Amino acid sequence: MPKLSIRDLELKNKHVLMRVDFNVPLTEDGSEITDDTRIRETLPTIHYALEQRAKLILASHLGRPKGKPNAKYSLRPVVDRLRILLDHAIGERINVGFSPDCIGEIAAELSRQLESGQVLLLENLRFHPEEEANDPEFAAKLASLCEVYVNDAFGTAHRAHASTEGITHHVREAAAGLLMEKEIGYLGRALGLGAGDGAPAKPFVAILGGAKVSDKIGVIENLLGKVDALLIGGGMAYTFLKAKGQEVGKSLVELDKLDLAAEMIAKAEKQGVRLLLPIDHVLADRFAPDAKTELFSGTGDFPEDWMALDIGPETIAAFAAEIAGAATVVWNGPMGVFELPAFAAGTTAVAEAVAANQGATTVVGGGDSVAAVQQTGVAAMISHISTGGGASLEFLEGKKLPGVEALTEKTA
Ligand code: AMP
Repeated sequence: MPKLSIRDLELKNKHVLMRVDFNVPLTEDGSEITDDTRIRETLPTIHYALEQRAKLILASHLGRPKGKPNAKYSLRPVVDRLRILLDHAIGERINVGFSPDCIGEIAAELSRQLESGQVLLLENLRFHPEEEANDPEFAAKLASLCEVYVNDAFGTAHRAHASTEGITHHVREAAAGLLMEKEIGYLGRALGLGAGDGAPAKPFVAILGGAKVSDKIGVIENLLGKVDALLIGGGMAYTFLKAKGQEVGKSLVELDKLDLAAEMIAKAEKQGVRLLLPIDHVLADRFAPDAKTELFSGTGDFPEDWMALDIGPETIAAFAAEIAGAATVVWNGPMGVFELPAFAAGTTAVAEAVAANQGATTVVGGGDSVAAVQQTGVAAMISHISTGGGASLEFLEGKKLPGVEALTEKTA
């Protein structure tokens, strides 16, 4: 069932409380923003609300202040950046105020003073332990600031916190912001959750990588029933290869997941899913940027003291061919230790292959694969880059995200 959208609501002259994800990285002392991507991502929703003449109250968390005020985690530096970004986006000066507390008399008074087309940013929600505890009284206090509630913070939608879940019990309607809508739309369609034409276009290819099988089991299990091909690279591939009987030297292996890996291989076969594992590897004699490296091809045992830190060229070619033939691609997790240039080729090649398939719907989620896509300079060529690492992973696992579930369903 689709969720209510901010576009379905009357916002004019209303106090609109919008949960946003302004959890931006700051300099050590907390005085400056080092990357404002998260603010930029939510700008279209803010712009829309202001165009509709809302009295816009923005609420977010930042870092882990552990339920106490802490200047290092103040959202105050966001005010100036938001003014500048809005200036650029809208072409007129927007009044952006700041409330030093997200609840209480000060927040209430400042929001009363707010005029249509103005913005009030509330201080870090997590300065109150009640936010993460999803305390109903705290949620009610937040709700008392507004007539309309909008959630645009997909990145925290997998957490049932007061500002993402609790508050929805104290407002008449809870709507998705434009970013939230986009996230649910792309990820939902990939999983076949959309209504009507919502099924993913086939062939559907999923690429999973990263360090551990244990982090991705849920995703593998959920996707096996949906995809035509599953390409596995990165550290997690070596548990699978060992489960198939290949000795993988000092490569990353989760011994307690060998049975599970074997089970997944059997399941893929039974369901007719092509499960592609690396067929050649960049081996290193140690985990270091200047390690000695060697290409290893085939199903024979690796030399005992060496470890695989990237996929090799034959694997890249096989993966790229699958990706080129896909109509839907979902990618989560790097193909190797891409932080080190010597082991980045596999991840870069996969990023390029995904970007090159312009006929497909391509979705990239998870911090590391997003970083890889950006590093490779192909971000603009991907249909959707998810802003929520943990949230997108849980979504792909088929879990219900409390912040999404809590939104009001759209009636016909
Ligand atoms: P994840 O957070 O599970 O997506 O894992 C990302 C991390 O996996 C990155 O820091 C990579 O360096 C690491 N990684 C990818 N491939 C390998 C590999 N073959 N061996 C060890 N670590 C890897």
